[in-house]
Amino acid sequence: MRLSRIDINPLPEIMIGLWLTIFIVAMALSKYANTTEINHHPDSDSKDRYPYRLPDWFWQSPKNAHLLSPQEVISTRNDIAKLDGLLNTSSAKHSLEINIAEWLASKFSIRDLIISSNVVTSPKTQLSLAVLLDPDFDPNTKAMLQDAALRFIEVAFDPVVIKKAYDRSTLMPSPMPEEYELKDGSPLVDEIDRPVYAENYAFYLTQRTKPASIEAFLLQLRNALTTPTGDPAVLMISRYSGDEWWGGGYNNFHSTPLQQLKREAPSCGYLYIKLNSDKLKKPEPNWNDTNFWASKIAHEFLHNLGYWHPNYKSPAERDANNRGNNWAFIVSYEFAIHDKLNEIERSEQADI
Ligand SMILES: [Zn+2]
Repeated sequence: MRLSRIDINPLPEIMIGLWLTIFIVAMALSKYANTTEINHHPDSDSKDRYPYRLPDWFWQSPKNAHLLSPQEVISTRNDIAKLDGLLNTSSAKHSLEINIAEWLASKFSIRDLIISSNVVTSPKTQLSLAVLLDPDFDPNTKAMLQDAALRFIEVAFDPVVIKKAYDRSTLMPSPMPEEYELKDGSPLVDEIDRPVYAENYAFYLTQRTKPASIEAFLLQLRNALTTPTGDPAVLMISRYSGDEWWGGGYNNFHSTPLQQLKREAPSCGYLYIKLNSDKLKKPEPNWNDTNFWASKIAHEFLHNLGYWHPNYKSPAERDANNRGNNWAFIVSYEFAIHDKLNEIERSEQADI
């Protein structure tokens, strides 16, 4: 919708109009490519293996030959190649990217993803999750991440974990983004005199910071980790490298209409995150710590459900701002999951 506003505004003659145009384009793009990690640490590896659509490593797999004809594969490859030739901020690139994503999602059902997954089931909770890993991860990492995903679902609904995460988190975690675009110290206004929100603040307004209640969060978790057909939910994980973070996840991906798998009704969302293979290698701290990676999966999973945290410049800045009762809920939940899993492990070792 925002892009059509740009198309019908052919005469941005004054500077304010130009700024608004740039702002609107930035808003439209940030809407679908937004995690702290992705926005601020772009790298080609990430774009290749974690695009804003079903990833190429999945849909081009020979296992999906019954779902996409050779002509369809070739023409989609050509469309994706066209994307690289278009300017990052152009509306043509945005439209093409959306079209490819929506078309690919229409060719698959949740069951088509499950067939290529390893389904892990918790004997404690009877909950299953279909884990679909990028074939580019090495075999040991794959096994560890599958175990991490299992450990995550074993404690995801733990009332003590959720209460701890909830109680210490705030609706206004610091550092909050600036509210308005400023010009000479005053808020910039649009053509109908409304103050213009700054990009990061406008994004914050569209996201979740803290759940309304513990019960509301439990319901949201239940909806994300189950499907309307009783099939397990799917967690797809792409590999990437090249930044100082452990992972990333598109905000709201699970409920974004165009990303719903539509080969069968009812259409169904899936979970789709990326993890940094640089951090999954020696001598990185926690490189093979299953509990640690379970907590990273929890964090990126919550981005997929629309949870937001401030745009930290570094892990140190994140730690400095998540203290006392001023945690961002998503970070708070991640750390509560990690603590709980370590506690379980210590008590199991004590029993031996
Ligand atoms: Zn994050």
